[in-house]
Amino acid sequence: MKSSQSSRKKVAVVGAGVSGLAAAYKLKSHGFDVTVLEADERAGGKLRSVSYKGLIWDEGANTMTESEPEVQCLLDDLGLRDKQQFPISQNKRYIVRNGVPVLFQIILEPFLWKKYDSSKVSDDGTDESVGGFFQRHFGKEVVDYLIDPIVAGTSAGDPDSLSMSHSFPELWNIEKRFGSILAGLVLSKFSTKKESGGVRNGTTEKRKPRRGSFSFQNGMQTLTDTLSKELGEDALKLRSEVLSLSYNAGKYASQNWSLIYSKDKNSKDLIADAVIMTAPVCSVREMKFMKGGIPFPLNFLPEVAYMPLSVMITTFRKESVKRPLEGFGVLVPSLEQQNGLRTLGTLFSSMMFPNRASNDEYLYTTFIGGSRNRELAKSSTDELKQIVTTDLRQLLGVEGEPTFVNHFYWSKAFPLYGRNYDSVVKAIETMEKNLPGFFYAGNHRDGLSVGKSIASGCKAADLVISYLESSTDQSCAE
Ligand code: FAD
Repeated sequence: MKSSQSSRKKVAVVGAGVSGLAAAYKLKSHGFDVTVLEADERAGGKLRSVSYKGLIWDEGANTMTESEPEVQCLLDDLGLRDKQQFPISQNKRYIVRNGVPVLFQIILEPFLWKKYDSSKVSDDGTDESVGGFFQRHFGKEVVDYLIDPIVAGTSAGDPDSLSMSHSFPELWNIEKRFGSILAGLVLSKFSTKKESGGVRNGTTEKRKPRRGSFSFQNGMQTLTDTLSKELGEDALKLRSEVLSLSYNAGKYASQNWSLIYSKDKNSKDLIADAVIMTAPVCSVREMKFMKGGIPFPLNFLPEVAYMPLSVMITTFRKESVKRPLEGFGVLVPSLEQQNGLRTLGTLFSSMMFPNRASNDEYLYTTFIGGSRNRELAKSSTDELKQIVTTDLRQLLGVEGEPTFVNHFYWSKAFPLYGRNYDSVVKAIETMEKNLPGFFYAGNHRDGLSVGKSIASGCKAADLVISYLESSTDQSCAE
């Protein structure tokens, strides 16, 4: 039930990526007066789709899943079910071995039946790397040929740098709870079955989400475009970079926050009762915070490392591709650099979603850089075109030059959940503890995927709702 008190409360959301927009949408649905401030000239953040001359491609996230209940609710509420697009041959994914793409299942099978010694857990376990964890359970070959390409493809990171507890918290917890991953996965399936059944609008939700990855008819940005439309033009301020935030403690949570932002080079301010911050930690470190009229220095907030990534879109006429593979895409393990391959992986975008290119061509999305090769990510479009064409020649037998090329460079594609990432999470918690009405959400906190970012935004919105409603109750009780 919306209260008339809460309908007057103002919330500022910083950042119009998917987490900020999902948070703002939830708050608006609860009757709050929400303003989203976005530094860029467009909303969407890392969701970025382009339609051009009959081609459709994504320069950021390409697909998402609905494992998180928040995603299921959001898609239903936004009426996006009709626009969801599930890839053809979802399960056909390839990994390169000895220079040749091999079906993922074929690579996986022998490892699952091998027995490795998983008894040697590192000292206290807290900062174990992703590589160390999987090596302990499945051996080095699994790390080199499964985990390395998967983490490169999902976070642009590498198994040795990434923290297991932050990158794969579910598996990490399963091991802690059940002692073994495989047994844990089986047992936790039983327990989640018993516990499952999300509650929405007071009724138990029965619908089972469709498994696997999906996009939308015009690409992933359909999601953030729909959210932006629902919020309305007045609630979403683009080209509005937040520069400073001040908390002026009053007795109650009422208009305690004031934000200064630059809009088209003019300085503006916004008053709010609570703030949800979804800007990357590197941007937050640049902002000035004040508390009760004195500076609140953020020197305790550690620097986060970011992975640079180039995304190359190429199209080839179908007759120029001699060994087209049906399926989702191909991942390249680091070790395959010795076979001359320099890309991280390629999605077979028009094979998955046939409306992404004309009938006589294939559209590919290739990723270059990440922690494996930071410098390469910064190469020129011409150099990258050569690198991509050479790799696709080897993997798919493409002949000649691509008929179309598009290059997008992300200098900070993904935050690296490094082995000291606990210190970042703790610093964010310190901010929240010391700044009443300040909440942090987004992909720097609870996971990198689109689904996890949405869940994080929704969770922050829930915290704001209870924060503001409890302060309203207090003032009513006086
Ligand atoms: P962001 O999208 O980064 O949004 C933060 C927003 O804050 C930005 O719009 C930024 O401009 C704004 N901002 C920054 N500073 C300020 C300021 N001072 N004032 C106002 N606004 C500010 N995930 C998947 O699940 N599947 C995939 O296939 C996938 N592929 C990916 C491929 C690439 C190339 C990239 C880069 C990411 C991919 N991801 C994928 C990850 C996923 O897209 C992101 O983690 C997620 O979208 C992040 O959302 P967010 O809202 O937390 O952050």
